[in-house]
Amino acid sequence: TCKAEGVAAAVRAAAAVIAEHRAELVDLDRAIGDGDHGENMNRGFTAVVAALDSAVPDTPGGVLKLVATTLISKVGGAAGPLYGTAFLRASAKLGAASDLDVPALLEALRAALEGVQARGKAVGGDATMVDALIPAVSAAEKAAGDGGDIAAVLTAAADAADRGAESTVDLVPRKGRASYLGERAVGHLDPGARSSALLLRAFAEAAR
Ligand code: ADP
Ligand code: MG
Ligand code: MG
Repeated sequence: TCKAEGVAAAVRAAAAVIAEHRAELVDLDRAIGDGDHGENMNRGFTAVVAALDSAVPDTPGGVLKLVATTLISKVGGAAGPLYGTAFLRASAKLGAASDLDVPALLEALRAALEGVQARGKAVGGDATMVDALIPAVSAAEKAAGDGGDIAAVLTAAADAADRGAESTVDLVPRKGRASYLGERAVGHLDPGARSSALLLRAFAEAAR
């Protein structure tokens, strides 16, 4: 299991990974969008780290709620409300529990995906972050069913998210700015799918 401090450490690791990949995310978004995804995400996660520096909430759900509210206020664009909703729904699932275990992690991951889909109306195959998240949740469920611990579950999720993000290269975008390009966006990796895969990888590495 994992307590608030562990979740906060994972979120800090995610912020570091987003900072490292800022330029990559900008380049991906420049190809099929408006080129701000790396800046948006880095601004948001920099603010999340600043918030954690001043006070770490005392439950895993509290940490995720702080992430949600900070991302909603700082990220902007399409991704801000989508990731904000994901973390908010995940935090609501965890409630006031002081420990995060595998069943709670699965519920949080499912709730995050449901939140993104409720907010953005994207389904699998629309070439968005949902194409990373759907296989990630399925893989997490399978790994948990096989008796995996938090690190194993998150690693399976991250591996599946990488493949899911890669699958967006061959898809015609049907949601978000990239959809304005239609067929011309084929051949490009979706920036939000990439950032989702990066976040899950960072969480998985932090859990090891
Ligand atoms: P913006 O397009 O407003 O500049 P960002 O560049 O920060 O916002 O984020 C773009 C990413 O948001 C896309 O790559 C895609 O993954 C995701 N996205 C956009 N619209 C949707 C949607 N309706 N549902 C799910 N994800 C979406
Ligand atoms: Mg953009
Ligand atoms: Mg924008």
